[in-house]
Amino acid sequence: MSLDFDPSSRAQGAGQLRHDWTRADVGALFDLPFAELMFRAQSVHRQNFDPAEVQISTLLSIKTGGCPEDCAYCPQSARYDTGVRAEKLMGLDAVLGEARAAQKAGASRFCMGAAWREPKDRDLDAVCAMVEGVKALGLETCATLGMLTAAQARRLKEAGLDYYNHNLDTSPEFYSEIITTRCYEDRLQTLHHVRDAGIHVCCGGIVGMGETRDDRVGMIATLASLRPHPESVPINMLVRVAGTPLAETPGLDPLEFVRTVAVARFCMPRSVVRLSAGREDMSEETQALCFLAGANSIFYGPKLLTTPNPGRDHDRELMGRLGMAPMEPHD
Ligand code: SF4
Repeated sequence: MSLDFDPSSRAQGAGQLRHDWTRADVGALFDLPFAELMFRAQSVHRQNFDPAEVQISTLLSIKTGGCPEDCAYCPQSARYDTGVRAEKLMGLDAVLGEARAAQKAGASRFCMGAAWREPKDRDLDAVCAMVEGVKALGLETCATLGMLTAAQARRLKEAGLDYYNHNLDTSPEFYSEIITTRCYEDRLQTLHHVRDAGIHVCCGGIVGMGETRDDRVGMIATLASLRPHPESVPINMLVRVAGTPLAETPGLDPLEFVRTVAVARFCMPRSVVRLSAGREDMSEETQALCFLAGANSIFYGPKLLTTPNPGRDHDRELMGRLGMAPMEPHD
């Protein structure tokens, strides 16, 4: 631990973004006394955002279950017996109905998730029609469909896709403990195609999967070394779903989760940091600390793909008690 360590002296405070984060730098942030880390994260947050605003996204599973991949945390993998049934791709009208409801409830961004290794071109036609329809409603559009080729990324961009989500999940070292059916490099490749196509990148990870702090350091150091930083950085707490290999993983200390959010905020000061999966099991006090640490986005709505999420009324009430308001869509 070093109170003398001041990564903010290296360009961060001067309005420049750093992309040369070393593990030592990121590790030193994690090691700061909690109050010091929170102060630094909140200071950087205020330089870049209104701390009373929270960006609201809604996530809809447009194609649930039956995925051939083996992500150890995921109830949608066909390899695990989790009770999630494989369904067909939703129809356009049903998706647009959900998007209208999300917009009415205050969402500014509508994310569509499909449990695929990668989309087939035929499926991509249908998704592009959804993107066009959602965009026409005045919502920001986001999709998470698995790996993409460069051509697929360009097609999605032409359809009006604003964001593509593809998480790194964890550190490069721990990755093979979690997924064996695609490698870290595959993920970076998809991110590269998305970036090249001119789509904003939404990329983060999951903590509480049995990784060490070094792995959390490695994950943030990798994310913060992307150039540019992902515009949106979801930090998920593992939801331990019965039937998945990680079902019995010991829970992560909530304060360590808050630290992870704070370090992500500090290292990627202009990115929107999203408090994503796992909020259902988090106390309101932990969520409030995450906002204080610089989280400024949540998913709204009772479900995140297949796992529970706090209901909209509950979230509205919490936002009201914290004096926080929805962020307007921006570009
Ligand atoms: S996380 Fe995505 S790719 Fe992995 S098993 Fe689940 S749906 Fe498939």
